[in-house]
Amino acid sequence: MALMTGEQYIESIRKIPMEIYMFGKKVENPVDNPILRPSLNSVRMTYDLAQMPEYQDLMTVVSPDTGERINRFTHIHRSTEDLRNKVKMQRLLGQKTAACFQRCVGMDAFNAEYATTFEVDKKYGTSYHENFKKFMLYCQENDLTVDGAMTDTKGDRSKAPHAQDDPDLFLHVVERRPDGVVVCGAKAHQTGIINSHEVIVMPTQSMGPDDKDYAISFAVPLNTEGLFMIIGRQSCDTRKLEGTEIDVGNSEFGGVEALTVFDHVFVPNDRIFLNGETEFAGMLVERFAGYHRQSYGGCKVGVGDVLIGAAAVAADFNGAAKASHVKDKLIEMTHLNETLYCCGIACSAEGTPTESGNYMIDLLLANVCKQNVTRFPYEIVRLAEDIAGGLMVTAPGEADMKDPKLGPVIDKYLRGVSSVSTENRLRILRLIENLSLGTAAVGYRTESMHGAGSPQAQRIMISRQGNLAHKKELAKAIAHIKE
Ligand code: SF4
Ligand code: FE
Repeated sequence: MALMTGEQYIESIRKIPMEIYMFGKKVENPVDNPILRPSLNSVRMTYDLAQMPEYQDLMTVVSPDTGERINRFTHIHRSTEDLRNKVKMQRLLGQKTAACFQRCVGMDAFNAEYATTFEVDKKYGTSYHENFKKFMLYCQENDLTVDGAMTDTKGDRSKAPHAQDDPDLFLHVVERRPDGVVVCGAKAHQTGIINSHEVIVMPTQSMGPDDKDYAISFAVPLNTEGLFMIIGRQSCDTRKLEGTEIDVGNSEFGGVEALTVFDHVFVPNDRIFLNGETEFAGMLVERFAGYHRQSYGGCKVGVGDVLIGAAAVAADFNGAAKASHVKDKLIEMTHLNETLYCCGIACSAEGTPTESGNYMIDLLLANVCKQNVTRFPYEIVRLAEDIAGGLMVTAPGEADMKDPKLGPVIDKYLRGVSSVSTENRLRILRLIENLSLGTAAVGYRTESMHGAGSPQAQRIMISRQGNLAHKKELAKAIAHIKE
């Protein structure tokens, strides 16, 4: 079975007994939980679209490893065309879900691991690349969703992993056995973890020689003993419990994050991809972050398309669409959004092969892409709120609209143009609210800031990759400065 249907995916997740907590209680049936289900639906879209002939070229690829048609989310990029198609696929999924569809972290971890394990083996004669390839083929053949877990909780930022007062603040090896290792620690902000079959764990930063136990990378299934998740709260999350579709804004899709705890988790030898080779921790982080910074030039652009569309519809519905300042704001939003897409496509087009043969994006351009993502969605949201007007945050709820006395009053006074129902006008405003302030704002705003690394992480990479020395030489040559 190379490709699962969306329904088969949902049922496959249902079969995995996961230890998930929310609001102080264990969640017994996460798949049907109204707060959690929209995030599962977002991942499901990566399966549903792969079944549709019109999206086959974008969503699937014939694997050079298995010869079978596989989902692109489990693919190892073999060309710059693959890299560009990845970004286009992510834009499409952002458009279809208006949320984080989560499966990209696994794809980005796959490609970072594929290249890095090859180079570690070359230096040390280890067998991490074989371990990883075996795991990768298993995921390709079974069309699995894989989470990528990188961000440690980090404790005191001024101290190295081994120097923390509590050693578990960075995930690390606590026991070495002949058949594997035992790890302890936690990974924060894990979007998609509860919707995944497997998780790839990676170190969170460069490591020094004293951090050997922390330079660990591996994969385990989600029902591994000692692994549990605590769901993060989101603004307006309990609206999903009220049974009101309109108030939720995007009732079908969403994203959910979890603090993921590894409490003495055993990892067998053949699932280990790095184990103590500290100098490669930084390479793995840099590559994974680079791929994920490229990813944001696709997914956030797709969500931006929905937000721009929603702002334009809101203007249609209140009769402001022809105002020149509204038209100009929509142009500005489009300009910003397409600039992000330019960066995603550019870093892909300038990709190059690694020693292992897979393709790496241009790291400088990918970091510029993500740096722009830390800014432009905020401006796009600001303009959407400007066009939407205050009603976006002051409108009465769906229950009032259904009330026999209040409903007609709301219908009368909150109508815009008379040809559009008040309900439809409020539906589009709630969608804008959801993307700017509600549960989806986690994915479109704060994740734009901190996902794939906070702004400063990109600035460090830009300073490293920017080649200032070369620029100085150029200036001196033009100015005829001879030293
Ligand atoms: Fe994919 Fe974007 Fe979500 Fe990352 S933030 S997993 S790139 S949708
Ligand atoms: Fe993300």
